[in-house]
Amino acid sequence: MSNPIRVLSDHLVNQIAAGEVVERPASVIKELIENSLDAGCARLEIDVEQGGIKRLRVRDDGRGIARDQLALALARHATSKLFELADLEAVGTLGFRGEALPSIASVSRLTLTSRVRPDSDDAASDRAGDSAWEVAVAIDGRLEGPRPAAHPSGTSVEVRDLFFNTPARRKFLRTEKTEFDHVDQVVRRLALARPDVALELRHNGRVVHQLPAADGRPESVLARLDRLLGAGFAEQSLEIDVSAVDLRLHGWVRRPAFSRSQPDQQFFYVNGRLIRDRLITHAIRQAFSDFLHQARHPGYVLFLELPPRLVDVNVHPAKHEVRFRESRQVHDFIQRALQRRLAQGVLGGAESDAP
Ligand code: ADP
Ligand code: MG
Repeated sequence: MSNPIRVLSDHLVNQIAAGEVVERPASVIKELIENSLDAGCARLEIDVEQGGIKRLRVRDDGRGIARDQLALALARHATSKLFELADLEAVGTLGFRGEALPSIASVSRLTLTSRVRPDSDDAASDRAGDSAWEVAVAIDGRLEGPRPAAHPSGTSVEVRDLFFNTPARRKFLRTEKTEFDHVDQVVRRLALARPDVALELRHNGRVVHQLPAADGRPESVLARLDRLLGAGFAEQSLEIDVSAVDLRLHGWVRRPAFSRSQPDQQFFYVNGRLIRDRLITHAIRQAFSDFLHQARHPGYVLFLELPPRLVDVNVHPAKHEVRFRESRQVHDFIQRALQRRLAQGVLGGAESDAP
C-alpha cells in the first residue's frame, strides 16, 4: 500500500528550497543584489514591473560570469564562494549556499546574461570574454543556451512571472503596491550599507531612487543617509565609532530628542549583513533607557564588524539571523558604547537637541 521511496528530481528539490529563500519579489531582489555586491560591482540598476510580480531585473557592472560557468551558476549547491568546511567559519561574502539562483529559477522564468569584466581573472582564460552570453530556463526547468547576447561587462538577471508554476505561493502575493514597498525596503537597507555603490531603482519605468556613489568624503555618505531616511537625519544624529579588541561599532544614532513614534529606522548590520537579533535589540534598548521615553523608538544605522570566526551566519537560508560566539560580550560592548555616546551627545550638544 505504501508508496515506494523515490529520489526527487532536481527541479522539485529546487522548488522546495525556493520555499525557504523566495517568499516574494523582494526576497528575489535581495538575493540578486547580494550576488552583485559579492561580484564587486560599483553600480546597480534595479528595474521592477508591477511590484516585481510581472518582471524584475538586477543589472550590475561586477566581474561577470564566464560562458562555461553560466549553467553552473544556476545549478544547485554550486558556488564560487565556498570550497571547504573551513571557509564556512570565515565567510566574507553575503552568499555562500549556492541556492539562490537555482531556487529562483525553479519558480519563475529566469534569464541570466553576463559578460566577463576585462580586468577579471576569467577574462584571460575565457576567449569569449569580449562578448556577452545568456542562458534562460525553459518552463520544464531545462536550460537554453548559452547563446550570444548584447550586454556591457557585468551581469543581469531577469525574473519574470514569479510563482507562475506554484499557484499556492502565488496566492500569497499581495497587491502590486505592497510588493513594491517590500522591494523598496530591501533596496534601502542595502543602499544604506553600501554608499560606495551607485544605485538606481525604477518601478514601472519611473525612477524611485537615483543614488550616486559616495566618493569617500563624509558629506557624500551623509547625503545618502538623508536621501534614504529623510532630510535632517544626519543633522539629528550622533555619529559613533568605537573599537575594542575584535569588535568595532560604527554608524549613526538619532539623538533621543529625535527618536521615532515607530520602530521604522532601525538598521543593524553585522559584517555588512542586515540582521534582526533579540540580543542586539535588547542591548540598544538598554542603552537608550535612560534617555528615551518608553513609548518612543530609537532610530539608528549601525554597523558591527567582527572577525567572521566569531559569528555564525549559517543559521537560516535567508540569513537574517546570526549567532555570536561570545554573545554576552557583544551585548555589553554595544550597550556600553551607545550609552557613552548618548551621554556625551546629550550633555555636549544640548542646545541642538530642541526639536
Ligand atoms: P551563492 O551566492 O550562495 O554562491 P547563488 O545561487 O546566489 O549562490 O549564485 C551562484 C553563483 O553564481 C555565485 O557563487 C557566483 O559565482 C555566480 N553569480 C551569481 N550572481 C552573480 C553576479 N551578479 N555576478 C557574478 N557572478 C554571479
Ligand atoms: Mg547568492
